[in-house]
Amino acid sequence: MTPPSILILPGDGIGPEVMAEVRRVIDWFGANRSLNFEVIEDLVGGAAYDEHGTPLTDDTMAKAQAVDAVLLGAVGGPKYDDLDFSVKPERGLLRLRKEMDLFSNLRPAQCFDALADFSSLKRDVVAGLDIMIVRELTSGIYFGEPRGIIEEGNERVGINTQRYTTSEIVRVARSAFELARRRDGKVCSMEKANVMESGILWREEVQKLRDEEYPDIELSHMYADAGAMQLVRWPKQFDVIVTDNLFGDLLSDAAAMLTGSLGMLPSASLGAPMENGMPKALYEPVHGSAPDIAGQGKANPIACILSFAMALRYSFDQGEEADRLEKAVENALADGARTGDLMGPDGGTPLSTSGMGDAILKA
Ligand code: ATP
Ligand code: MG
Repeated sequence: MTPPSILILPGDGIGPEVMAEVRRVIDWFGANRSLNFEVIEDLVGGAAYDEHGTPLTDDTMAKAQAVDAVLLGAVGGPKYDDLDFSVKPERGLLRLRKEMDLFSNLRPAQCFDALADFSSLKRDVVAGLDIMIVRELTSGIYFGEPRGIIEEGNERVGINTQRYTTSEIVRVARSAFELARRRDGKVCSMEKANVMESGILWREEVQKLRDEEYPDIELSHMYADAGAMQLVRWPKQFDVIVTDNLFGDLLSDAAAMLTGSLGMLPSASLGAPMENGMPKALYEPVHGSAPDIAGQGKANPIACILSFAMALRYSFDQGEEADRLEKAVENALADGARTGDLMGPDGGTPLSTSGMGDAILKA
């Protein structure tokens, strides 16, 4: 049997630094758990532009379509700020998301006990928190037509259109229900059905899918503004939250800050099932290329390592090995392993990127 394949795209800034630690983790699974992967590495973002004059070559795009999972570091940086829009590093990532049709964006908000005091909220509100926000990623108001800025008499008018079809709603809702089945069996759907037609359709379709195919799932509905309030008041009431592109953008950023540092947050973007039944998938840390600390060995590799744990779970059906990796991160933190972003100003000497990798491999 051919081993499952991963395309690694380290990208720019701290991307290559954090991805180097993921490579070590992948090697560990091969050596200690007989879990072997075919790993291909390629360029994306500014790194691809420097080499090929484009942030993503057709060849790399074809590889991304062929593998079982793509793992991406980060793209962009000040060096590329003045480039033409069409070749900006971010365009490489957008092309991947668009051509792989990754419509379901998974952002866990998980609070490791050792970091509970890092949250902006009180310890008992966040300690042990483990929720998942599922954001629709390819439709809604960011893409709807008509859009633009037009003249109307002596006024200018900025126009965007929120638009959702039933199939767009159903496919992302399905991914949320499937996820909930592997978790605590609870989904809360958020929209504004009180003021938006797309919200009415969203609510109806999500409920219909639940009634017809997921009767085992406990489904609730909330207006997104009330949901935002509940999310910061008592986030542990949720398990899986499913919402549209715009509300998901806001809610997932708010949820991220429940847990502390950007350096801790993984994400997955999933598409339709491939021939083997697993979804097309791209995994990446939530953080960017962090130019202010790039090249200094200061970056926290945990977000990227936890993104690989998500790949184990959602692309390779290795839930127990994903648990093993997440537990190692938790134990390393409990033992006091800290990169600079996880320390106060007088917290002592932080670990380097590879120092944190060492601590996690040891754990
Ligand atoms: P982008 O536009 O690509 O999202 P950004 O400017 O919004 O990037 P980041 O690049 O994520 O943001 O950096 C925001 C801040 O968080 C920076 O000060 C950066 O140093 C810090 N940061 C981000 N990721 C990490 C990490 N893995 N480890 C430590 N610090 C990090
Ligand atoms: Mg940003």
